[in-house]
Amino acid sequence: PTVIVWFRRDLRLSDNPALLAATAMGQVLPVYIHENNQQEGGGGAWRWGLQQALAALNADLQGKLCCYVGDPARLLPEVAHAVGATGVYWNRLYTPQAIKRDRAIKQSLIERGLQVRSFNGSLLWEPWQVLKADKTPYKVFTPYYRRGCLVQDVPRQPMDAPPTVTWATLPAAAPAPSMQALDALLLGDVSWHKKWHGIWSMGEEAAQTRFEHFLSHGLACYDQGRDFPGRDCTSRLSTALQYGLLSPNQVWYGLEHAKADEHSVDKFRSELAWREFAYYQLFHFPSLPHKNFQPKFDHFPWLEDEVALGRWQTGQTGIPIVDAGMRELWQTGVMHNRVRMLVGSFLVKNLLLDWRAGAAWFKDCLVDYDLAINSASWQWVAGCGADAAPYFRIFNPVTQGEKFDRNGTYTRRFVPELANLPDQYLFKPWMAPASILRQAGVRLGQDYPEPLVDLAASRAQALAAFQALKI
Ligand code: FAD
Repeated sequence: PTVIVWFRRDLRLSDNPALLAATAMGQVLPVYIHENNQQEGGGGAWRWGLQQALAALNADLQGKLCCYVGDPARLLPEVAHAVGATGVYWNRLYTPQAIKRDRAIKQSLIERGLQVRSFNGSLLWEPWQVLKADKTPYKVFTPYYRRGCLVQDVPRQPMDAPPTVTWATLPAAAPAPSMQALDALLLGDVSWHKKWHGIWSMGEEAAQTRFEHFLSHGLACYDQGRDFPGRDCTSRLSTALQYGLLSPNQVWYGLEHAKADEHSVDKFRSELAWREFAYYQLFHFPSLPHKNFQPKFDHFPWLEDEVALGRWQTGQTGIPIVDAGMRELWQTGVMHNRVRMLVGSFLVKNLLLDWRAGAAWFKDCLVDYDLAINSASWQWVAGCGADAAPYFRIFNPVTQGEKFDRNGTYTRRFVPELANLPDQYLFKPWMAPASILRQAGVRLGQDYPEPLVDLAASRAQALAAFQALKI
């Protein structure tokens, strides 16, 4: 018998439960289907990453991946019929739209006499299994993780790649796959992404290499160093986790072999659990991407200011660490977590712009864009999310820069026009005496912008708007 494995966000061979189960049944036909109107994926950066990841998977499958562009509800039965498949297997997705679609597809395939099996290939804990004693979902992270997840069964051990697989051949009568059409769709006709080839290396093997590098070089400093954007102490695995080049189970158990202290391992595992918590929130509160989790924020008087938004997007706010973050995003497709929090806080609490505008820009620019994590994180930053930073906690981007980028490595890298400013003024060039600016070759307002807003005044304005909500 032949079984179709429908690849989605699990573009790997090892620890792939659907693939392993299918190989035990007989021949496997690996299929990927890109829906043109896919609303849950990201923008150009994310599509570029996906194209790279699919190309790598196809190479690992000896060129056997059948890629389609279209509606899976139509294509899957057609392909199954043509190849004489007895079943269709996949690893589950957890976003609201995908759950609804997959449920309907499952029903229609079963009605056609096909065996359908779905597996958990991307989460450590199923969202519906972690509930409070009263059977309602947790809204606060620590009890969710400590009292909910950790008392469950330990996460499943990762599985090996199938030892041997017999790949099915697609008969001529089947819908014709087209890797080229998909490539063209994912890459578009602009070659802006060429600059990323040196930065990113996508695929299962590259992800494992990255993870091993982190285990031997980053994990030991994770606990102390993860907040410092100029240091190499974080894993940079978000992109691999996003496309499923690695599973969270592989990461969770891979940590056991590392030489690092318990604090770093615990801290790192709790970040993986924040990823789980984001998926959990989206599962239980499907409107998370567009509605305030705390409805009291529905009346917040957000400003509409296209000019300010544009300057934030392009890294021209005149606040150096904010601009460094936004330029890192544009140049590399990711941003360090500490800086994501800072630029988010600045957008929402200094510019008073709606968090959804920030989330939309991140969606457009992030290679690691993830509907669940991005939505939950923006709500967290804005203060309206589950277990969010309180609204009145407003990051000061000057002191944050001085604390977390003390010698300016990160900020100077992405804002080179300030490279010669002494550390003392790097995060507040508007305070520098004229002679210092001259020596550093900086003409404020020409080489680098004056600050878009006064930090103290805008902070006070945000607090007043917040207090006016009478929360
Ligand atoms: P590490 O510190 O090495 O963490 C390991 C893994 O844990 C990450 O790869 C990620 O899967 C998970 N993780 C780490 N921090 C968080 C967090 N705060 N919330 C949830 N999971 C986390 N991450 C995304 O993957 N996609 C997004 O679209 C995204 N949008 C964000 C938007 C905002 C406003 C903020 C504040 C954070 C966002 N994050 C997002 C979370 C976080 O910034 C990234 O996961 C992290 O920077 C990736 O780098 P890393 O792999 O080196 O992280």
